Amino acid sequence: MIKFLDLHKINNRFRDEFEAAFSKCLEDTHFILGENVAKFEVEFAQYCGTTYCIGTANGLDALTLILKGYIELGKLKKGDKVIVPANTFIATVLSVLHAELQPVFVEPNPHTYNLDGKHLETTINEDTDNTIKAIIMVHLYGQLADLEGINKLVKRHQLLLIEDAAQAHGAFSELGKAGAISNAAAFSFYPSKNLGALGDGGAITTNDKRLQETVKLLRNYGSHKKYKNELIGHNSRLDDLQAAFLRIKLKALEADNTKRRAIAKAYINGINNPKLKLPFYDGSENHVFYAFVVEVEDREDFIGFLNKNEIQWLIHYPIPPHQQKALSQFCHLKLPVTEQIHKRILSLPMSPVMTTAELKTVISILNTY
Ligand SMILES: *Cc1c(COP(=O)(O)O)cnc(C)c1O
Repeated sequence: MIKFLDLHKINNRFRDEFEAAFSKCLEDTHFILGENVAKFEVEFAQYCGTTYCIGTANGLDALTLILKGYIELGKLKKGDKVIVPANTFIATVLSVLHAELQPVFVEPNPHTYNLDGKHLETTINEDTDNTIKAIIMVHLYGQLADLEGINKLVKRHQLLLIEDAAQAHGAFSELGKAGAISNAAAFSFYPSKNLGALGDGGAITTNDKRLQETVKLLRNYGSHKKYKNELIGHNSRLDDLQAAFLRIKLKALEADNTKRRAIAKAYINGINNPKLKLPFYDGSENHVFYAFVVEVEDREDFIGFLNKNEIQWLIHYPIPPHQQKALSQFCHLKLPVTEQIHKRILSLPMSPVMTTAELKTVISILNTY
């Protein structure tokens, strides 16, 4: 059986360091907002190239707190419209709804799966009452969205730009690094992410001092000082123990991303089956391959083939947000690009601990499909 992602193998590389960090935590008892959170925030901000990083309980909260922070600061108000890609993990959309804003779904570029300037421009031009105030760009599957195209519109229409960088830790281009190319960015450290904790975790990165101050309040009951509450806050802090684990894994992130790119290149060079549409990749470091996603016309048949050959697979994601029961108020929308993508995509095994032998096996099996 070739695993999709071997979480045991990924984390076992750090077992001794994890155990030492756990023992120290058990001795110190600084479980909440201790020194590991403070140190991780400095280290992750430095890694992303931002002035600030604020740890949160998870990626969804990171997104939600950014939006609520901008509402507190008067840059957004309840009911404003926020553009989201129609093809994303549901968290992107939920954050908008939790902040009492309105999501506007925009179709992706069918090759990169990301927002691009062209589709965005059409949507913004149709917004004649100018109620679109922000864009959340998602760097889906680890590839940076079309920043140049998006930035033009952001400047022209004075919009806030927010990144959902939950799948893109470390992706960069000459325009900057994921987390540092917008007003504020949200990361997830869910265990399967490129930088994954041993539980839930998330972070916000930003250069905006006032936003940093506000989300620091919001994540901690609206409070700077114990039992003094300034805002209607949340309880959404990054665990100190998870921060300790993340500090250890952050040191391996660059090498892990390099490995993921090498696997992607081997897939792209090795798979020569015309039934599989390979992902668009320009060969640069703007992609960290959280997922290696192919498209296939008869997915049911392909899944049967993979199962028979004991190759694990996943679908990121089987149902688009606007067709989810929870979001039935959007089910009337017609988003054909997104709907077609969701019917055809499938993610192949991809992880920094995949061996060359496993990779070769997958490639040769795929070429016999
Ligand atoms: C994982 C993910 C999130 C949410 O992160 P959690 O830590 O699970 O809350 C948000 N957006 C995208 C694109 C994700 O992949």
